[in-house]
Amino acid sequence: MSDLRLSLTDRCNLRCFYCMPRTHYSWLAKADLLSFEEISSLVTLFLALGVRKLRLTGGEPLLRSELVKLVHLLASKPQLEDFALTTNGVELAPVAVSLKEAGLHRLNVSLDSLQPKRFEHISKRDSHRQVLLGIDTAAQAGFPKKLKLDTVVIRGFNDDELPALLQFANERNAEIRFIEYMDVAGALNWSWEQVVTQTEMLQHIEKSFGPTLPLEEAHAAPAKRYQLADGSTFGIIASASAPFCENCNRLRLSADGKLFPCLYASEGLDLKKELRAGKTHAQLQQRIASFWEQRREKGAEQRLLQENRKAFKTEKELLENPHLEMHKRGG
Ligand code: SAM
Ligand code: SF4
Repeated sequence: MSDLRLSLTDRCNLRCFYCMPRTHYSWLAKADLLSFEEISSLVTLFLALGVRKLRLTGGEPLLRSELVKLVHLLASKPQLEDFALTTNGVELAPVAVSLKEAGLHRLNVSLDSLQPKRFEHISKRDSHRQVLLGIDTAAQAGFPKKLKLDTVVIRGFNDDELPALLQFANERNAEIRFIEYMDVAGALNWSWEQVVTQTEMLQHIEKSFGPTLPLEEAHAAPAKRYQLADGSTFGIIASASAPFCENCNRLRLSADGKLFPCLYASEGLDLKKELRAGKTHAQLQQRIASFWEQRREKGAEQRLLQENRKAFKTEKELLENPHLEMHKRGG
């Protein structure tokens, strides 16, 4: 256990069709969200158990009020080696510098297209200009670690934009990671035909930029990184065609305190309930440690073995168990 994804809210200001395709959702009540003090206590426990990377996510984490205060609180924890936040960038420009000053190490901004109309088609909102402004502000804010851009590549939607997106990232000294379209629980219209695999992505990129050199990494990272002839680098996250469950060291904590061992897991450990029932730190630490030790999930690998693979869950199943959804458990 070394990597914790912490969701700060299940709400979002976009409706990306591969994540939140429906019009209506049931949102978590404010009283059910972990408070900043609760988040801080839990993060301290996770750090004591070996976590070194913390990524704030959601839903859209920038929608959580007083976020900068929380970042400041968490950044002061000495064992934290990598402290990042993943955002869609819509509300980023006004807060990027404050986040850096509060101690955040790095931003990951999601960007699926450089074309405003396409962005709107994918996200159902007309916010492309704000996202680009957010990226430019983040690139100049002086974060200690390099800006990352994340693109979900979907056949017929944005798979012709890989070279342009790569160039856009390079011009901002950012590293882009191309993500294979995953059949996570919110992706109700997922189909295998829409997945552009790592191999295909490399072919597209090599056509424009020449040979790519795979980089050897010492640590377990979801992205396989490559270098181009000009020295610039990019990553591919092949969660659909080449899952990395064997090396997965990641846990997800939903905004209401449920701990999930895998994006595909149906059950989580309700840490908020235990925390609010007055369990001591030692008891909670014990619960988390045994939850981790018992973890057997290899969701993405099991999905790969499915014949006639279709969307992971139906709308009915999501309505019955909203915690299955990516935006609820933290992407
Ligand atoms: N709202 C923030 C954002 O979009 O960056 C953070 C949460 S979002 C769930 C985290 C990441 O998950 C985004 O980069 C998004 O593109 C990715 N994602 C969501 N659904 C996906 C899917 N079906 N396949 C692959 N990536 C997905
Ligand atoms: Fe919102 Fe991020 Fe999901 Fe898009 S991917 S709907 S921005 S949570």
